[in-house]
Amino acid sequence: MKLKCIVCKEQDRMEKRRFCKKCYLERKRERYKITGRYTYNNICKACKKEFKAFVKNQILCSDCRKESFKYKMKANDYVYMWDGSNKIWEHQQIIKKHLKRNLDKKEVIHHVDENPKNNSIDNLIILNNGNHAKLHIFLRIKRIILEKNNSKLIWRNIIVKLTMWWLNKNNIQYWQNR
Ligand SMILES: [Zn+2]
Ligand SMILES: [Zn+2]
Ligand SMILES: [Zn+2]
Repeated sequence: MKLKCIVCKEQDRMEKRRFCKKCYLERKRERYKITGRYTYNNICKACKKEFKAFVKNQILCSDCRKESFKYKMKANDYVYMWDGSNKIWEHQQIIKKHLKRNLDKKEVIHHVDENPKNNSIDNLIILNNGNHAKLHIFLRIKRIILEKNNSKLIWRNIIVKLTMWWLNKNNIQYWQNR
């Protein structure tokens, strides 16, 4: 069942919001016009500084948010070979061999320990696109918060447990060779 926007009552509303995209942006613009500034004074969970936020549940200031992107993996970090014209990704080959089929478009391979060079089969899981993106956002945010608040934290010691905890907590389906 599709839910309708509570303002215009015509458009479908966005997930987890009461308004459609158009009405939501309209309200945001209105609020900004009235106050002349961002609306919420939030405390950043990572650096603990107060910052101006558009949305109530924004937990990172823009600096920490930006900083968290440094944890993103780059294509060059993965192991690949050239077959003359294309890159052949090692982790994809390993999974294909195991499944005895090609991955479909929605399936993404994730390195559980966040080491793109560790292509051991028990370090690889398959998630759908959406869940994979959500997992990376969760890990990125969690990491900047934990690292800024605990200088002794060693991320690679907790990453696997944290990932499994998140997958189970959110009831996320994934493939793993265990
Ligand atoms: Zn609307
Ligand atoms: Zn911050
Ligand atoms: Zn991943």
